[in-house]
Order: sequence, then C-alpha cells, then structure tokens
Amino acid sequence: MEFCCTNCFFDEWLIGHIKIYGKRVNKCDFCGDKNNFAININEFEGLISPIVGLYTAITNFYPMELLKEGDHSNDMIWDKLTNDWGIFNTPDIAENILSAIYQDDPREGTFYDFMNDAVAIEEEWSIEHYTIGNLWNEFCVEIKHQNRFNPKSFNKEMINLIISANIETILTGNKFYRARIQRDKKPYKLNEMGAPAKDLAIYGRINPQGIPYLYLSENEETSISEIRPNILDKVNLAIFELEKDIKVIDLRNLNIGSPFRWGDNLKEIYLNQAFLNDFSATVSKPINFKTSYLEYLPTQFVSEYIKNRGFDGIIYPSSVCTGYNIALFNEEKCKCISVKKVDISTINYKFSTS
Ligand SMILES: [Zn+2]
Repeated sequence: MEFCCTNCFFDEWLIGHIKIYGKRVNKCDFCGDKNNFAININEFEGLISPIVGLYTAITNFYPMELLKEGDHSNDMIWDKLTNDWGIFNTPDIAENILSAIYQDDPREGTFYDFMNDAVAIEEEWSIEHYTIGNLWNEFCVEIKHQNRFNPKSFNKEMINLIISANIETILTGNKFYRARIQRDKKPYKLNEMGAPAKDLAIYGRINPQGIPYLYLSENEETSISEIRPNILDKVNLAIFELEKDIKVIDLRNLNIGSPFRWGDNLKEIYLNQAFLNDFSATVSKPINFKTSYLEYLPTQFVSEYIKNRGFDGIIYPSSVCTGYNIALFNEEKCKCISVKKVDISTINYKFSTS
C-alpha cells in the first residue's frame, strides 16, 4: 500500500485531515519526505473522487474544431487540481498520485479517459457557450414566467451553505457614501439623503417597488459614478456612519474554500457558486427603466432571501467604478452625518464599437 504525506499537498483542509487521521511514515512514496504524517492512497481516493468527478475528458464534449486548435497540454487533470484548486504542491506530484489511484485500476473494462486527455468541467463549458445547465438563466425564466414566489430552481440549501462562507462583519463607525443629483436650488438636507419613503420607492436591482433600501458606496468616486450625472449637474454627496455593527454577504470573489469541505455536495456547490456569481454580476449592472420590471425580479428575490436569513445587506462590485457598493436592507443601523455639494467637471466615457 502506498502512502502520500502532508508535504505532497497545499490544501489546508486536507493537510489538517491527514495530521488527524493519518499516521507517521518513514518515507512518503510520492514526494520522498521523511517521517511525516501520511494517508494511504485508497483513503485519499475517497476524498479526491468528488473533485476529480467534476471533470470530463474534453474529447467527450468539445467540438472537433476546438479540439484541433489551441494548446491543451497544460489542461490535464493534475494541472487543474494543482493550479485551479490548489490541492497538490506540484502538478508532478499530482500526476504520480492520481496515476497510482486511477491508471492501474484492476476492475476490468474501467477506462479512466480523464487520465489520458485534457479535461474540463462540462457544465462550465455549457454555461459559457450555451444556456443549457445555467442555473441563473433557468431561475430567471422560472421567476419571470412560471413561479414567482416559490421558484423550484432556487436551491436554498446550497445557497445557505455558500452565503454562510461569505459573511463579512463591518464595525460601527465605518463610513460610506451616497450621492444624489440636486434637483432644486437648495442642496438636500441630512434627512433627505437616506432611502426614499416607502410610497416613493421605485424598484431597483435589489429592492422591489415599495420596499426602500439604502444604497451606499465605498468611496466618493464610486457613489458619484453610480448615479451617472451629466456634466454641470450639481451632486449632493452624503457621508453615512454605521451606528451598529452590520453583518453582510460579500458577493465579490465568492469563496467556497477547500473543495474537500463539501464532500459529495461539491458539484452542486460549484454550480450554485456560479449562480451567485451571475446574481452578483447582474446586481452590478446599471438599471434601465426602459426595460420591463420583470427583468429585476430575479435579483430582488435573491436579495430578499438573503435579507430574510437575517443579514443587514449585500456588498457587490460597482460596474462603473473600481470601488464596491453596499445595499442596506434597513437604514436604521447608520446615520447621515454630513452633506456637501459637488460640481461635475469632467466625465470619462469608455466605449466599444460593434
Ligand atoms: Zn509526500
């Protein structure tokens, strides 16, 4: 029986697991390290197989022209597990361990084609190139045209697991910014810079009509960019200070941590992480009131779900500036401490030709 040791790996969860459940061996069969904790490769197979199972040989699903072009020599399973997931210390060690597990399988007729060809995650490929298998698209269609209040394509269990790994606490005293274009001669007062009144709250990407949230930004530049002012517009810029700690879900770089944490749920977690990344990208887009309100239902639904899990808001990237935005479901945890007038002097336009 061959043993692989903690020094073969980079993944912290796995290293911890081997230290607890492994045993000391004189010499690792793969990296040669001496007197280290190790587990036998049969046991390791049980841990790694849900991750390996995400991948399929690209010969099984890539169109022929794509197989011919492009260099796939660094897309072998050992490259993916080392470079994309940070499981092994080097692709060479990964190749040796995976070969020991899968290459010489005694079960007759078993052919592990992922060991001989470049690999990819088929669902990821589908999501990029078609709409099949894209959870976010399926959910959007369902909530707009089939089930509005209890959509079946929304996987609460998986979403709960992912959001609970991406909670951020922001402490009392932190400051955020909100800009409004000044419509009257007089600048807005402090109490006019908060969320709109309930009967005046029009819908946004995050709030439904009639349910106002407070949209804030990380810095002045982001808050001004978000309202897309024209040149010569007068902008009022308010500073809000947190009066209580808040617990929010950070949608930037959603993290699922070590793939080993999820066991057989990994594939579902992976696909639902893609779902939340699509949610985040959609929330970040500027709103266009010429579009039907139906377009905004999917992001409003997910936002409300997060609110009802007891969180104070969500952090999402700005699509018009480098800073981030924060939508607070309840504005009572912060107060407006100042407003100043800003004149817009220059606007940078970025464009692409089509
Ligand atoms: Zn080793």
